[in-house]
Amino acid sequence: MYEEVILLKLGEVVLKGLNRRRLEDLLVKNVKAALRGCGKTAVWESQSTIFVEFDDDDPDVDQAQAALKKVFGIMNLTRAYRGSYDWETLKKQTADYVAPTLMRAKTFKVDARRSDKKYPFKTPEICMLMGEYLLNQFPHLTVDVHHPDVIVSIEIRDGNAYIHTNPEKAAGGLPAGTGGHGMLMLSGGIDSPVAGYVMAKRGLKISAVHFESPPYTSDRAKEKVLTLAKKMSVYTGPVDLWVVPFTEIQEAIRDTCREDLFTIIMRRVMLKITCRLAREKNARCIITGESLGQVASQTLGAIQCTDNAADLPVFRPFIGSDKQEIVDIARAIDTFETSILPYEDCCTVFTPKHPKTNPYLEEVLEEEAKLDLDALTKDLTPEYLRITPWN
Ligand code: ATP
Ligand code: MG
Repeated sequence: MYEEVILLKLGEVVLKGLNRRRLEDLLVKNVKAALRGCGKTAVWESQSTIFVEFDDDDPDVDQAQAALKKVFGIMNLTRAYRGSYDWETLKKQTADYVAPTLMRAKTFKVDARRSDKKYPFKTPEICMLMGEYLLNQFPHLTVDVHHPDVIVSIEIRDGNAYIHTNPEKAAGGLPAGTGGHGMLMLSGGIDSPVAGYVMAKRGLKISAVHFESPPYTSDRAKEKVLTLAKKMSVYTGPVDLWVVPFTEIQEAIRDTCREDLFTIIMRRVMLKITCRLAREKNARCIITGESLGQVASQTLGAIQCTDNAADLPVFRPFIGSDKQEIVDIARAIDTFETSILPYEDCCTVFTPKHPKTNPYLEEVLEEEAKLDLDALTKDLTPEYLRITPWN
């Protein structure tokens, strides 16, 4: 067994009372999935910490660490050394393991935890004796109990001693999939993949629907959406994606309805189809990347008219966000460069020259009634794709 392990400290999961067991089990499952491709590992949970052990002789711990930083539900992460239960050996192992970190520091303190009550020293003794030993080994250091540069932690638990220093902040949030199931409306733009990411962070399992209008939209535009879904799935977990053929419906709206209301009616129809699909797949909310005032179809009046077509709650996590705030997250999760590739989206097909920016629901409903929506949507057969980070 390799001596270095990774310890993951749980975030809000520990507050969840009766549900806690279920959340922890799902989190362990998500952790295992994130470690695919990182060699043979063992993962288990004990006392609000998830342990990741490596069964290979020469594992890529850096790669595992990077993957684990993307798993929602983990507050912080630290690499640790599994040291000896024997005190004299443990002291030497601690000095060796933390040497590179302590050489760069001026002040430190030792923090100890002991869930193993049989251990010969009590917590304050471990702190004092280990502190003394490290001061002798690294004479340039001084102890600062309030604001140390480095905290050397010793955790005695389950018959082992774990040595580590300052933990790193991880993704936070709640484990993806523990808060129900949402259907994301995924375009090729910047906002919707980020909307999927932030709602997965609050625990939703994400499925997605994309509307395409060939030949007005190209294969490359569709490929772009698949790439976005894949990049998003690194965080959300595997995504079921339905690609809905939308050409005929868009042509019917263009030929039947008032031009200035084209976009709003199109968006209502998209939302109706998405709600229907969501119900079929047991998703209980819709997620979009809309932001108030960002474009003509996202004015308050337009959103009121669109929202009226939904029979499930519509979550718009960016309704009050500036574009730049969304872009910052898109860059951090690596979807931005894909999103700005210049391929057409079905929303830009047949865009009216003068869209009505503040439509009234009554006029929209009146225009929409001219369409035979049942006939147009009855035989829709979306293409199904399962998107994972590894396929
Ligand atoms: P995005 O950057 O996500 O494309 P946007 O600023 O381009 O957003 P719109 O094109 O008005 O805004 O779309 C608003 C929302 O509608 C998107 O965030 C997305 O959730 C949904 N949407 C737009 N186009 C599609 C599509 N082709 N398929 C599925 N959903 C879509
Ligand atoms: Mg768009």
